[in-house]
Amino acid sequence: PMRTEALHKSYGEVEVLKAIDIDMAAGEFLVLVGPSGCGKSTLLNCIAGLEPITAGKLFIGGRDMTNEPPKDRDIAMVFQSYALYPTMSVGENIGFGMKIRRVPKDAMQQRIREVAELLQIGHLLERKPSQLSGGQRQRVAMGRALVRDPALFLFDEPLSNLDAKLRVEMRAEIKRVHRTTGASIVYVTHDQIEAMTLASRIVVLKGGVVQQFGTPEEIFDRPANTFVADFMGAPP
Ligand code: ATP
Ligand code: MG
Repeated sequence: PMRTEALHKSYGEVEVLKAIDIDMAAGEFLVLVGPSGCGKSTLLNCIAGLEPITAGKLFIGGRDMTNEPPKDRDIAMVFQSYALYPTMSVGENIGFGMKIRRVPKDAMQQRIREVAELLQIGHLLERKPSQLSGGQRQRVAMGRALVRDPALFLFDEPLSNLDAKLRVEMRAEIKRVHRTTGASIVYVTHDQIEAMTLASRIVVLKGGVVQQFGTPEEIFDRPANTFVADFMGAPP
């Protein structure tokens, strides 16, 4: 449900994304990988409409969204910095998207509880974000996205602050959510194992240029160049 056509993004003179062509089917789990600074977060921000595109086109659900404001794009995003509302409790943070869509209170409370249990933060619903650890905050941010039902989820390294054990559990959980709901997901990670286990297809970015776009098998068995081979850990 998402497509970019020769998408360019510059900050001033600096071209951060160069002619990005990505075509993603409904229900796909697209993983974006690449070294720090290669443009992963910028691409998510452009898809979300938080940053204007310099040139090219963006379609979501078959509709041209190139110039539409974020609120009309039907996406739920989890940021790398997992910005939470500091004055709201954990429960209110998770429920915020439902509240503005006027979901009935009982249904909303039940959904908050479900998602919080799933993310193992059910005992923290009354707390404020300032009273949580980094990993707990990240799970609240994840919960706030999961209670929604958008055309597209955008996740920017949502597990990076978790310890190894929780990361593996959450990875399985995300996989389960994807399988059971058929959600369409664009997911950024530094972690090659995460990319290989979650992705239906992987986009490898370097310096704002797509190096390869393919299934985990294709990328592992037939890397397009030595950068991809090195970066994904395949033998040369
Ligand atoms: P990381 O893995 O470290 O999160 P990333 O791939 O997400 O990196 P981006 O945050 O997309 O990288 O940044 C891509 C490039 O764009 C970087 O060189 C960064 O310095 C630059 N950049 C990002 N945001 C801005 C901005 N608002 N103004 C100017 N340059 C920016
Ligand atoms: Mg980033």
